[in-house]
Amino acid sequence: MQYYNQDTYIYLDGNFVKATDAGIDLFGQSLHYGYGAFEGLRAYSTHHGTRIFKAEEHFARLQRSCDAIDLPYHWNASVLIEKSYALLEVNNLRSAYIRPLVFSGSNMHLTSAKDAHIMIAAWEWGPYLGQNLLRVCTSKIQRPNPKSFRIEAKVSGQYINAILASSDAIKQGFDEALMLGQDGYIAQASSENLFIEKDFKLYTPPLDHVFPGITRQTVMELCKNLNIEVVEKKLTVQDVHEANSAFLCGTAAEIIGIKEVDGITYREDWEHTIGASIQRKYKKLVLEEENYEVII
Ligand code: PMP
Repeated sequence: MQYYNQDTYIYLDGNFVKATDAGIDLFGQSLHYGYGAFEGLRAYSTHHGTRIFKAEEHFARLQRSCDAIDLPYHWNASVLIEKSYALLEVNNLRSAYIRPLVFSGSNMHLTSAKDAHIMIAAWEWGPYLGQNLLRVCTSKIQRPNPKSFRIEAKVSGQYINAILASSDAIKQGFDEALMLGQDGYIAQASSENLFIEKDFKLYTPPLDHVFPGITRQTVMELCKNLNIEVVEKKLTVQDVHEANSAFLCGTAAEIIGIKEVDGITYREDWEHTIGASIQRKYKKLVLEEENYEVII
């Protein structure tokens, strides 16, 4: 996957610069210690033009993530949203994945950064996990300990165990890993939230060991509007194995159904599941084919 070429621009500290000219500080804490915060947004080409889905929520979370790790954040969300649209324009992108990253300058100490930089990049990216139903496995690698870290923050260093869990799953021939929290219950996939369907209700793990996904929240809002009950409940591996169906959700992956977990195949035809209805509604929502206020 090529994320940029010699014609690609990124937004860096107030300017649009060529990605190839941006350079990188090799003495920064972000590179050495994973001390950075980032976001992942999607822009969709809609009938009303290009629209970034839930841009305010994503930039608000970026600020909260920086606050959680004491990384200075001195930008205005509406300016960053405006710059994100401008970035799509200079790169001639109508739909794209957008990646803002806040990172620190030179400092090799294990102390909070005094200053920080922001860059925003964008590239065309299909659904992160593809469009086919997934084969997933439960991973031996757990989610980060919520007592050692603010796990609701989207912070660079936190993704090492996600990389290990998903690559381990892929090496075993699966598409993605389901990770447990330290409490031994299923938490989520490496970078998506999980919903299971059982007896016409959806269940999803509560937020204590789980990243508060904006797509997870959107799914809950869609369910409310459709009168589908969603229960936040700790789920065992057995609960997930014995569900009628299941799906993952996230900005990059969107909504994607699961075919099997640990070799156990769901018997329900995906097209007839609640997940499939939510998948269709989500697509309409991000493409602004239905009025948000009417369906939420
Ligand atoms: N979990 C983790 C660990 C994530 O990094 C993400 C975002 N990629 C998600 C879940 C999904 O969050 P969102 O719906 O806000 O993209």
